Amino acid sequence: MTEATIQHYINGQISPGTSSHSQEVFNPATGQVTGRVALANGDDVNAAVAAADAAFPAWADTPPIRRARVMFKFLELLNTHKDDLARAITAEHGKVFTDAQGEVARGIDIVEFACGIPQLLKGDYTEQVSTGIDNWTTRQPLGVVAGVTPFNFPAMVPMWMFPVAIAAGNTFVLKPSPLDPSASLMIADLLKQAGLPDGVFNVVQGDKEAVNALIEHPDVQALSFVGSTPIANLLYEKGAKHGKRIQALGGAKNHMVVMPDADLDKAVDALIGAAYGSAGERCMAISVAVLVGDVADKIMPRLAERARALKVKNGEQLDAEMGPIVTAAAHQRITGYIDKGVAEGAELVVDGREFDASNTGEGCADGFWMGGSLFDHVTPDMTIYKEEIFGPVLACVRVPDIATAIRLINDHEFGNGVSCFTESGSVAREFGRRIQVGMVGINVPIPVPMAWHGFGGWKRSMFGDTHAYGEEGVKFYTRQKSIMQRWSDSIDAGAEFVMPTAK
Ligand code: NAD
Repeated sequence: MTEATIQHYINGQISPGTSSHSQEVFNPATGQVTGRVALANGDDVNAAVAAADAAFPAWADTPPIRRARVMFKFLELLNTHKDDLARAITAEHGKVFTDAQGEVARGIDIVEFACGIPQLLKGDYTEQVSTGIDNWTTRQPLGVVAGVTPFNFPAMVPMWMFPVAIAAGNTFVLKPSPLDPSASLMIADLLKQAGLPDGVFNVVQGDKEAVNALIEHPDVQALSFVGSTPIANLLYEKGAKHGKRIQALGGAKNHMVVMPDADLDKAVDALIGAAYGSAGERCMAISVAVLVGDVADKIMPRLAERARALKVKNGEQLDAEMGPIVTAAAHQRITGYIDKGVAEGAELVVDGREFDASNTGEGCADGFWMGGSLFDHVTPDMTIYKEEIFGPVLACVRVPDIATAIRLINDHEFGNGVSCFTESGSVAREFGRRIQVGMVGINVPIPVPMAWHGFGGWKRSMFGDTHAYGEEGVKFYTRQKSIMQRWSDSIDAGAEFVMPTAK
């Protein structure tokens, strides 16, 4: 396939694969095609899994401290090349460069965590569980594991997965989003430079054909998915059918409650940054503001002013606050939601559809631009309240008290992230205890847990029971083995026909 410039990475080599399918890759700021990405078929996936399978025995046998040393070297290289990675993300995703730097930094956190793998894999040991018998547990790698990742964090979300998986002794096949595939190959190159043996990390570019081949492959032991809820749900069910361990993180509708006693300056800053940062294309973006009591009357004018004043421009410009939408199709979907919000009776205070793109930057006239939108008087029956828009649209709901706010949030089908702005310790404590959401912020709008705490939502924001990264990640990518041992000088004579008990 000669036209494809962004190819697969199999067994330590860039590979064109055998499929004749490819798709265009855009720079969302200019609307121009910047390359084509190969779309793997079943044979390409088989080749990647075979390479990973062949590399597994030697890698799993490599002492954890030596695997950690490869991670340390990778960490060093990542720190050297982090801005190159951030630039590549801005060019294909559209998010502003400073935000892309933040994405890479949060991925680097996980690599730092994975460098501690010898300590994380340490097992438990009990001496003398019976006379002359000891019992211990160890955690061993699974084999070939796969990761399927979304467009919105082309470096960070893969880094939620492979550093922990690889450090734990597995081999890995990554299937990134075809919308922004270049970061995956830059990562593959850095891993190779760090001394990772060929076949331990592989990339198959592609779409659902590649994902289906991975999830049905008998040699893939586990699959981590991050993306939209319908696909997360589908892959969780399919994975179970094919006997695989699955963690599937899905979509979100994150609420931020603002109490009347909150520091309203900080709450306004938090709402603007968390709703419009990365054009709202974050699974932890705040898309609903729950304004308690008289808060709405106080802050709506300020939110409107700030939403209108957003610096929306080519993300390469260092003062840009928001970049373009990732694709023309996503732009159309978001516009459709805004139309629907108006039709269903919400008050559109700021209309991002009217955005004038003439100041977004040179050559950006055909980019996928829109401004931030702000709705007031949104109610729980409206489509813009119920569904994930995944764009720069903030829906404000007015409620009388904290109990109503908590009930509203707990009734929503998603439960990824949530935040509460208050100066009251008892409100904060009660909110943290009662809320049915996986990640909670108190006066923190985007509470993405640190590398050693693990990331995951509740309800239809996550399928599976172990969260991404942290100790939960180590658990996901390993399985426990219990060994009980007795040596001949302590063996009792004769067969035992009763259930063994401690003697
Ligand atoms: P998506 O579900 O469209 O795609 C995610 C991945 O699945 C991609 O690699 C894609 O190629 C693949 N895919 C798409 N359709 C498929 C199908 N029918 N069968 C198999 N695989 C398929 O998601 P996206 O648009 O890339 O990303 C945005 C979504 O991801 C949002 O819903 C967002 O909330 C979610 N997200 C969630 C988290 C989280 O941690 N919970 C983090 C980031 C993004």
